[in-house]
Amino acid sequence: MIKEYFRPANVEEAVQLLTQENGILKPLGGGTYLSRHPGDAYGIVDLQNAGLNRIESRGQRIVAGAMARLSDLLEHPDVQDAIKEAILLDASLNIRNAVSLGGWLISSDARSTFSTVLLALDATLVWEPDNNRVRMGNWLPLRAEETPGVLLTEVEWWLRPRVVFEVVARSPKDRPTLIVAAAQWESGRTRIVLGGYGAAPIVAMDGPEDRGADVAARDAYYEAEDQWATAVYRREVASKLALRCLDRIDALKESEA
Ligand SMILES: Cc1cc2nc3c(=O)[nH]c(=O)nc-3n(C[C@H](O)[C@H](O)[C@H](O)COP(=O)(O)OP(=O)(O)OC[C@H]3O[C@@H](n4cnc5c(N)ncnc54)[C@H](O)[C@@H]3O)c2cc1C
Repeated sequence: MIKEYFRPANVEEAVQLLTQENGILKPLGGGTYLSRHPGDAYGIVDLQNAGLNRIESRGQRIVAGAMARLSDLLEHPDVQDAIKEAILLDASLNIRNAVSLGGWLISSDARSTFSTVLLALDATLVWEPDNNRVRMGNWLPLRAEETPGVLLTEVEWWLRPRVVFEVVARSPKDRPTLIVAAAQWESGRTRIVLGGYGAAPIVAMDGPEDRGADVAARDAYYEAEDQWATAVYRREVASKLALRCLDRIDALKESEA
């Protein structure tokens, strides 16, 4: 139950409220998670006027405010096609219009293609207070236990890598049981990220080249068994999809040459 409501006009005010010792205040993004998990009485700090919805390119990175809606990302010309395709897979029109980037990252699970692709692009999260910058890959495993701050303000990721993904689901509209995303930089650096199992996507490989991507994907999901798929299925298919992603990246390179 919501017992207090604040709508700060900037990040400083929001941080001030969220660091108060009396009372429990929670940041409010789109509210789609909070409204379904009401819990005990708490107050909310509505971030809609805090100036956190800008999306802009800065050099080789794109920076999006935590209050950018998924629909804003879809409309931005610099956001990669793979990210847009992932958002369209994950979220319906109403959800895309409501959900904030920050709220999504904080509450989505391993079956989010969007979060899996952002992890492949080595996203960095910026937290207040202290402008604390944390790589998504370091943050995700600890997400439930400790937060790097009280307020996620920005998410940034690389613009230039080629990035593709493959998913397996029981039907085109079902949530995936396996996601493989691959990002490759001009230098050859290659990241393979797996989703579809567990609490969050995981990095299977981050190396200077793409060799061994299939083995890394198989190893990373060696024991990935749950009610949706066996570990044998997931690890074998993950390995094949990792190679398929790399083939698609090679084809992209050829088409651009
Ligand atoms: C119909 C439907 C379908 C869905 N499908 C999927 C799916 O396919 N895959 C999937 O993974 N998830 C799915 N979800 C869950 C979805 O991920 C969450 O509901 C959504 O991401 C929450 O975003 P929000 O902006 O509404 O966050 P809110 O509900 O506002 O907040 C979520 C949490 O994040 C905190 N928070 C919000 N913003 C900040 C911030 N800037 N800094 C610090 N903390 C913050 C809040 O305090 C709260 O704890 C679905 C939800 C719905 C309703």
